Amino acid sequence: MKGYHDIVGDGGSRILEQVAEQRARINDGLAGVRHLVAVGSGKGGVGKSTLTLHLAGALRARGLRVAILDADFNGPSQARMAGVQGALFVPGSHKVSLPRTSDGIGVFSMGSLISESASLEFASTAPGESQTWRATREFALLGEILASFEWGALDVLLFDLPPGTERTVQYADFLGPQTSFVLVTIPSEVSRGVVARSVAALLARRSLGEGGSKGPNRMLGYVENMSGYYCRDCNAIKPLFDAPKQSTLEIPCLGTVPFDPELARRCDQGIPFAELTDTPVRRALNDVTGRLLETLS
Ligand code: ADP
Repeated sequence: MKGYHDIVGDGGSRILEQVAEQRARINDGLAGVRHLVAVGSGKGGVGKSTLTLHLAGALRARGLRVAILDADFNGPSQARMAGVQGALFVPGSHKVSLPRTSDGIGVFSMGSLISESASLEFASTAPGESQTWRATREFALLGEILASFEWGALDVLLFDLPPGTERTVQYADFLGPQTSFVLVTIPSEVSRGVVARSVAALLARRSLGEGGSKGPNRMLGYVENMSGYYCRDCNAIKPLFDAPKQSTLEIPCLGTVPFDPELARRCDQGIPFAELTDTPVRRALNDVTGRLLETLS
């Protein structure tokens, strides 16, 4: 077996040219997108997908052009939540057209391509060692999706990130400094701790400076989801978590969103934001959207 230093240049793989070609296709595909916003956390199950979809819905309700890329390839939630499960991928004018929600949000989610009972396999040329290929294949796939779909003219493209602090940073690396971050937590010390770690990891990356390949990503702020429980019977927000009220996260708070069982039901059924009635939860989502737009501009 050849050692690393026995291989001359790229070993004939043209890997650098291939990466540069893909990067050019991605830049071309995203040329019409004004803002790239990644919604992450580090923690799973805190409402990243729910907030991504409903912030997209609230932006759309304000007349903005929005799309979502569900970057959680092996745990895609957007297909079901956005109601594009089983949507057909059809050719557009020059690339693949994006499936759309009933309120006009373009959505790419792996959940439109594979059923919920199947998992996405990343084939490896070294059977049994697929973990060494996984991240590479995952980001190659993300690059292909960015390069192959018609994102068109958009005000905001939202990325629904998978859980994991380390992966949040990897996405920042891949998406580059033009992508801003919104982090999602719930009011528990466990969740806040993981999100604080993501903030620290993103800041450490930022401190590497602009000279290297890693540029700084803007952190727009965090959203505290499930900040209380919305009781429809008494139309009031009740406490849900017994954690200290104030988070110590060192980025701005974009707002809080209560837990609403009706919202969870609607997510399961793919009912869009446009059909949410005027409740404190809808108003909270709207307030977060307003603050997000202010911060972006
Ligand atoms: P994540 O993307 O962080 O893994 P999800 O968005 O999938 O989390 O949320 C996990 C579950 O909690 C989903 O079933 C979702 O519908 C529900 N959920 C999240 N936030 C709320 C909320 N504010 N009100 C009601 N249900 C919520």
